[in-house]
Amino acid sequence: MEKELKDIRTHHLKVIEDKLIELITHKNRILAVQSEEIGEFKKNFDEFKPLTQIIQKTTRECLSDFQSKLDEADRQAIQQFHQQQDQLEYHASRLNQQQNQIQSIQELFEQQTRSRLQIAEMQKAKDRMLIELQQTKEELEQKKFLKQQLMNNFKLSQQQQIQLQQELKDTENQKRYWNNLLQEAKGSIRVYCRVRPNSQEDMLLLNGECTLVLRVPERFLKSTNCQKESSFNFEHIFSQEADQQEIYNELSDLVQNVVDGHNVCIFAYGQTGSGKTYTMQGDDFHKGVIPRAVEQIFKERQGMLELGWQMNIRVGFQEIYNEQSRDLITNQKCDEVKLLDIKDIVEVADHFNTAKKNRQVADTLSNEASSRSHFIFQLNLQGHLGDKQINSTLNLIDLAGSERANVAKTEGDRFTETKAINKSLSALGDVFNALYTKQQHVPFRNSKLTFSLYKYMEGSSKTLMMVNISSRSEDFQQTLASLRFAEKVKSCSIKK
Ligand code: ADP
Ligand code: MG
Repeated sequence: MEKELKDIRTHHLKVIEDKLIELITHKNRILAVQSEEIGEFKKNFDEFKPLTQIIQKTTRECLSDFQSKLDEADRQAIQQFHQQQDQLEYHASRLNQQQNQIQSIQELFEQQTRSRLQIAEMQKAKDRMLIELQQTKEELEQKKFLKQQLMNNFKLSQQQQIQLQQELKDTENQKRYWNNLLQEAKGSIRVYCRVRPNSQEDMLLLNGECTLVLRVPERFLKSTNCQKESSFNFEHIFSQEADQQEIYNELSDLVQNVVDGHNVCIFAYGQTGSGKTYTMQGDDFHKGVIPRAVEQIFKERQGMLELGWQMNIRVGFQEIYNEQSRDLITNQKCDEVKLLDIKDIVEVADHFNTAKKNRQVADTLSNEASSRSHFIFQLNLQGHLGDKQINSTLNLIDLAGSERANVAKTEGDRFTETKAINKSLSALGDVFNALYTKQQHVPFRNSKLTFSLYKYMEGSSKTLMMVNISSRSEDFQQTLASLRFAEKVKSCSIKK
């Protein structure tokens, strides 16, 4: 065994030894080849050495040349860079400008869009209007046709109208003539009596339209010397049932007289509370003589304007207190009131309100001055047509209360007032009397009241005295005094 192992080992060692020898031989061969190659290389290297030097030199030159070219290129590139930067800035500013322009164009565009919308709306409206226009055109055509027809009819009726107008003028003249004749027949001074409504009426008896019987109440029988009953006659007596329209119906012909060119005075006489102001002015629901007369005159004027007359209306408001005259529009003392030009009824009402207010102020200052002062409303009418002329005045007078007959029983301010009222009312009576008895001298100057009215009471003037009385038995004495005054006036007629 041991021998076997030894043989194997020896065999292995022999193999390794052979291999080693083989390897060393191989190595040597390689070394020989290498040294041969190195020699070859060395020979070649020496041969190429000058060439390498040339290449090196050329390379250096090339490098230096390349460097200078590179520097030049660098310089140019920087220069170009600066130029481009400048251009870029220039373009940036242009861009900015263009951006601004674009913005304004955008705004313009938006505006245009809005305008386009508006235009579209307007177009729609225009279309609608065109349709309406078309309709209107058609209506117009129809109307033209109708107008033509009417014109033909109008021409025909114009001739008839001229004829009718002539007839109307003739009728107007005749109306004036007959109205005046009627006034003459009724007398230039008329006296009407109005009884103020009252539940207790035992002392007054109405006998028809013109006669009134006053029965003296028991308690006055002893104190008065009158007979138990006295009878009075007037042109017209209005019972307490008579309304404002009924009163006006009986005096509207006098107002017509003013339009016909005559002066007219209408007086309301009576004790305080007997209905003078109610008769003359009335209230909102029961218009009195003044507003009704103004309405009538405006209506008549309209008719005359249509006949070709030129007409002017003026009004004035006056108060006479303690023999002093005051213009109720200017609220100043005056000798003669200033007449104001009037366009329409509303203007008269406005002035009337001013006058009332000014009177009220006085009222509070002097304690119910209205019952102790005279109020005059004047309406002047001026007109002409060709050679025909009108200048007439309507005077509507709300007199002071007639009750203060006894001066002896008053004193102080009351004394002065009472004296002034007595003076003016008796002056009024005297004027009527003088006119009635056709005296040479009519005492107009005896009081402010008669002096203010003298122009309107003379000549062809007409006068109406509306005596307002109370039917209450405690007012018996005042009622009797008023009836006596009225009776005195009754028979007068204006001097011709
Ligand atoms: P005067 O002006 O005479 O002092 P008023 O006209 O102020 O009297 O009348 C006194 C009161 O009697 C007022 O309230 C008025 O409205 C009333 N009155 C007068 N007359 C009438 C009448 N006929 N119908 C109804 N009320 C009347
Ligand atoms: Mg009064």
